Amino acid sequence: MRYISTRGAAAPRNFTGVLLAGLAEDGGLFVPETWLQFGAADWRALRGLAARVMHPFVGDSIPFATLQALCGEAYAGFGHAAVVPLVQIEANLWAQELFHGPTLAFKDMAMQLLGRLFDHVLEVQDTRVTIVGATSGDTGSAAIEACAGRERVDIVILHPYNRTSEVQRRQMTTVLAPNVSNVALEGTFDDCQDMVKALFADAPFRAEMQLSAVNSINWARVAAQIPYYVASALALGAPDREVSFAVPTGNFGNVLAAWAARRMGLPIRTLVIGSNRNNILSRFLAGNDMSMAPVEPSLSPSMDIQVSSNFERLLFELLEHDGAATAAVMARFRAEGRMPVPDAAWTRATSLFRGFTLDDPGTLAEIARLHRESGYLADPHSAIGLAAGRHFAEPGVPMVAMATAHPAKFPDAMERATGLRPPLPPRLADLYDRPESFTVCAPDIAAVQAKVRALAHRNAA
Ligand SMILES: *Cc1c(COP(=O)(O)O)cnc(C)c1O
Repeated sequence: MRYISTRGAAAPRNFTGVLLAGLAEDGGLFVPETWLQFGAADWRALRGLAARVMHPFVGDSIPFATLQALCGEAYAGFGHAAVVPLVQIEANLWAQELFHGPTLAFKDMAMQLLGRLFDHVLEVQDTRVTIVGATSGDTGSAAIEACAGRERVDIVILHPYNRTSEVQRRQMTTVLAPNVSNVALEGTFDDCQDMVKALFADAPFRAEMQLSAVNSINWARVAAQIPYYVASALALGAPDREVSFAVPTGNFGNVLAAWAARRMGLPIRTLVIGSNRNNILSRFLAGNDMSMAPVEPSLSPSMDIQVSSNFERLLFELLEHDGAATAAVMARFRAEGRMPVPDAAWTRATSLFRGFTLDDPGTLAEIARLHRESGYLADPHSAIGLAAGRHFAEPGVPMVAMATAHPAKFPDAMERATGLRPPLPPRLADLYDRPESFTVCAPDIAAVQAKVRALAHRNAA
């Protein structure tokens, strides 16, 4: 490629010449002599990053072109043209924003694709499913948004009546697609979970309704989370340069996807697990102490967990694919509340991950600092990721923190830390004016079964 001056009187140069010259001798600016032309195939190749990364996992199950189309549809509804914009926060610290999907949290990244994968596979098999789930808030809305309007899926989500935040409830109950139903259970979140478990445990009912789930241990969700690590790593210089990631972690799904990318050869240097005070993973890394403790509520509720369900996938890897040993360790964990990880496996884990814990006051201080020093509004989850990233950043290795929720989802915390209440994006601004639809139900299994049968009417045998 040759470059010419906008003033027409300087000798054409190649790239190096333009780099070194800066301004042209005639006072003009260099521009390409001819503009690069990308053909349709080139554009398609650029657009298809998610599908190209995922396709080896999908294999023969879905043709590449179909997967590509599904990925395209999944991310078309995001509120940012970059889908997962990479925002520079400090000289060597970036935020990758995973919260521009319909529910403003990172679960949409995988869920939006999952709903479409379900629909496609069910179509091929000419069958249908009823997805049931219990939620205390965020996961339910991501699942509902992912399934709304899908042809072969009905979804019924149970939430505890009057025990979710209004934003969370409205994000679920204002989705009025005919295949979406919300049940407000007169009980707690635990009661909701017990009801869902009971539905699955009733084999005839399960078969009759073709029950299914989209919970966080679904591998497709992990696979769907790999591409954005690839995208940001490539953007920051990989595969010719190492990149590090910091991930605010709950169920270990997101950070496991990062680990998978590294396992596939992406040059990831440091992987940091960010936790709030519910820091079972940090305690494990610090001293091989994987012991259950009561969950304590925090400013980052999506990370308030007791057991990180995806950790088992890593454990299997640490135990060198020994399924029997993995089963034994998990069984003792359930029985005794403490996971007996062999020292050799624990040592390997500490070479793969770093742990970082930030309590609520620290989180508020980090939100304030990011706003003061970079003008950036990070929600409490993302702030933990950014603090974790800064803590482990090394010169010359870009550090990317995953920003997992939109600050407008946590207006109270944001106001405490910065004095500002971030507004909801325009497409959600009328959330409080939209009509709601849900049905209240007693915490009784027969009543819940009757509801599910009636609501998922398209599936009834
Ligand atoms: C789910 C969630 C997390 C935790 O992700 P895991 O994959 O469960 O580790 C972090 N932040 C937000 C906002 C979430 O919704």
